[in-house]
Amino acid sequence: MKYLSTRDKTLRLSAAEAIKMGLSRDGGLFTPESFPTLTEGEVRDLCAKDYQARSAYIMGKYLDDFTAEELAAFAAFGYSAEKFDHPAVAPLRQVGGSTYCLELWHGPTSAFKDMALQMLPQLLSASLKKTGEEKTACILVATSGDTGKAAMEGFADVPQTKIMVFYPKDGVSEIQKLQMVTQEGENVGVCSVVGNFDDAQSGVKRIFSDEGIREELAGRGYFLSSANSINWGRILPQVVYYVSAYCDLMNAGAVSYGDEVNFCVPTGNFGNILACYYAKKMGIPVGKLICASNCNDVLTDFIRTGVYDRNRPFHTTMSPSMDILISSNLERMLFELSGGDDAMVRSYMEQLKAAGRYEITPAMKEQLQQLFYGGFCGEEDTKATIAALYADHYLIDTHTAVAAKVLEDYRRETGDERVAVFASTASPYKFCDSVLSAIGETPVADSVERIGQLQAVTGVAAPRRLAALKGKKPRFDAVTEKDKMEDVVLRFLK
Ligand SMILES: *Cc1c(COP(=O)(O)O)cnc(C)c1O
Repeated sequence: MKYLSTRDKTLRLSAAEAIKMGLSRDGGLFTPESFPTLTEGEVRDLCAKDYQARSAYIMGKYLDDFTAEELAAFAAFGYSAEKFDHPAVAPLRQVGGSTYCLELWHGPTSAFKDMALQMLPQLLSASLKKTGEEKTACILVATSGDTGKAAMEGFADVPQTKIMVFYPKDGVSEIQKLQMVTQEGENVGVCSVVGNFDDAQSGVKRIFSDEGIREELAGRGYFLSSANSINWGRILPQVVYYVSAYCDLMNAGAVSYGDEVNFCVPTGNFGNILACYYAKKMGIPVGKLICASNCNDVLTDFIRTGVYDRNRPFHTTMSPSMDILISSNLERMLFELSGGDDAMVRSYMEQLKAAGRYEITPAMKEQLQQLFYGGFCGEEDTKATIAALYADHYLIDTHTAVAAKVLEDYRRETGDERVAVFASTASPYKFCDSVLSAIGETPVADSVERIGQLQAVTGVAAPRRLAALKGKKPRFDAVTEKDKMEDVVLRFLK
């Protein structure tokens, strides 16, 4: 199967090439030329398999340049019991009548990014071999917290790769910082940047587009690559858990094959919910795709009006991983809605760049609204939802609360009472501060102590690796000015 650029369909690459390159040279995102389907018989077979086997099978449908043995080995390693603290990997939990929660945070860094970042490094490393690449890939990441740690954890000691993470010095939580500076692995590097997330991100982009640095690094045997969610190798592993959730609902007797299930996803870059759409496209009976935002509600407006407009205030919220005004993966959805019209996608993206705004055609809007419902949840409602679910004996994080609330709004507004699943994207222990406040506790001063506090108050066990942060020695303490990030990279890749 070939992969096309959303901005130029004549570009056709193998899966290995698409994963190695990440982003197409024309700025477009790689998308499969066609979508494989899963028959009823295949879905029934998958019901009898464990998560690792489901993953290898579904990924195999898209990655025909990888062998079944390779994919099975990647899944066994990436989703092993050593890395995931739940045997189901992505367990489904019933939270009331026809409502379920898909827990995606049982991996090594307690955020859903692990689901993809335990797989991408292995896919990338194998892709280098398949394409005859002799250089080492150096992954550069600017992170506002979750991605950097999950990427390092995935890339640690993966052959023919190195990874360097930049985070804003005062822009991540104490826990997130500790998670990063204690990262193990011979091929990892971490450095804080004096500035905010945008400064770190701009620095990384500047390095990527610096021909001089690229040449210098090529001479030293390196090329730069990215691990962010535009890489196909990050989207594909996410399709798996939607198929898997449907199988688990069948196994639990909650649905019979063919019954449609609604999915509500807390959304930032549009990667997670796009994966759910792809599962629907493969034939999984998905009903409504419910797109949940926090008060950065650019996607809610887009789904309701057909106008995407990033010219609006940026809000810092208690669900920071969704504080985004440009959802990069939406480009793949535009490609779908336009029937694969690359010129149209190119034009929308040019308008977005130039004016921060574009409007899709009435036909595209109609299709969009048939597939999606958009809603948002403010800060007070986020807290109230955490409190309400906790009273019901379920402790969730701030991002998950946004999804739970928007699902509730959707049901009230539409009367659609079909079985519904909301995605849980982070452990509540990653956001102890907000979660403690939401359930009426005053967080103690020390952020690592808050893990113990939340555990003592709720009786819910903290993820083992977060609990183990207490007293762990930092390995990295480098700090750089934002205009000196180049030097850090050049020193790292000596
Ligand atoms: C990244 C992230 C999201 C947003 O996911 P997208 O794929 O970017 O839409 C939501 N919740 C958490 C906890 C995240 O880390």
